[in-house]
Amino acid sequence: MNIHVLTLFPDMFLPVTQSILGRAEEKGLLQVRVINIRDYTLDKHNRTDDTPFGGGAGMVMSPEPAFRALEAIGAQGKRILYPSPRGKVLDQSLIEDLAKQEDVVILCGHYEGVDQRILDHWEMEEVSIGDYVLTGGELPAMVIIDAVARLIPGVLGSPDSHLEESIYSGLLEYPHYTKPREFRGLSVPEVLVSGNHQLIHLWRFEESLKLTKERRPDLLEEFVRAADSLTKQEKKILRGILESEE
Ligand code: SAM
Repeated sequence: MNIHVLTLFPDMFLPVTQSILGRAEEKGLLQVRVINIRDYTLDKHNRTDDTPFGGGAGMVMSPEPAFRALEAIGAQGKRILYPSPRGKVLDQSLIEDLAKQEDVVILCGHYEGVDQRILDHWEMEEVSIGDYVLTGGELPAMVIIDAVARLIPGVLGSPDSHLEESIYSGLLEYPHYTKPREFRGLSVPEVLVSGNHQLIHLWRFEESLKLTKERRPDLLEEFVRAADSLTKQEKKILRGILESEE
């Protein structure tokens, strides 16, 4: 998979070439190409933005450098995202969808935003990472890259590591514990050291349900609607959680 990022701050993406994503690049599973929009300006002062028509605060990215950069990478026909607080809020289903693409392009805005003609002409999908305003699209782009990369087969050490994770499974994840078994008088739940995998699975399922009910009742509602494939025991636990007062 190729992710092409258009930005005015290419150095911000250096950490992306390390850790999990670095490994993905080394293995040839993911190529993140960072393109400096400034390389495509025709302005003699290297400017990439200008004041907004109609007045108002801030600067707006000019169409010329963005169009030229998009043309240079052959963005026509590819999925192009524009991180923006106006966009659809990013969620795991969009990430799963993006992970299936051969190419994804991300245009990082700055200052007040970008000229609307860039968004319209290139049919960009506006994507928000939450209801708050950042100074630029670089951090949202990194969030998208990271979340997509870990779904590409072969990127994570263990192929199933994401299957039980929060959101992916439809529920929030159960609590984790590691050694030592006793730490300053705090102990690990007995069931986890029982060696009984079926009991451990059911305990984790119940903990996931409790957390999801408490923190994300919207997700639990969704989960209940699609709960046909649960085993008898799982269904019994789910009923118990739904009927409990807590
Ligand atoms: N004037 C814009 C508005 O009100 O929608 C906000 C511009 S913001 C200061 C600068 C850039 O940061 C945006 O163009 C966008 O690329 C990015 N950005 C800011 N907040 C974001 C968010 N919550 N999600 C995704 N991108 C965001």
